[in-house]
Amino acid sequence: MAELINCPRCGSIYVENKFRDVCDKCNKDEDRLFREVYDFLRKRENRAASQERVMEVTGVTEDMLYKWVKKGRLQTRLFPNLGYPCDKCGKIISGGKLCESCSKDITNSLKNLEAQEDFAKKIRESQQGTYFTTNRDNK
Ligand SMILES: [Zn+2]
Ligand SMILES: [Zn+2]
Repeated sequence: MAELINCPRCGSIYVENKFRDVCDKCNKDEDRLFREVYDFLRKRENRAASQERVMEVTGVTEDMLYKWVKKGRLQTRLFPNLGYPCDKCGKIISGGKLCESCSKDITNSLKNLEAQEDFAKKIRESQQGTYFTTNRDNK
């Protein structure tokens, strides 16, 4: 059954829709704004416009720009100055969920974890070895 939820932008109640995260009215507003932003960026001389410039000219908010870039509505391949914050540290990135250093951190801690497990396994094995040896010695 359809659920009624509050629009995170204007607070009005609307029927939940998995294709939209805001109400009808806000969605229309966003679409209009998106077209404006897109028209602006499409012009050759604006391709490399900074995010600040885009916001200034079109009145779009930072959050909206981030959302569009994240969803791939605005492609960083075409507009290299656009991006969105890393999930972890907030640094502006152009793809994935994390910036380079945060994903490196995660890979490293995973490696550490593996190394720790390896170490624990070796200890277990050597303890077993000792156990068997002493056992044999006692015979
Ligand atoms: Zn709304
Ligand atoms: Zn980061």
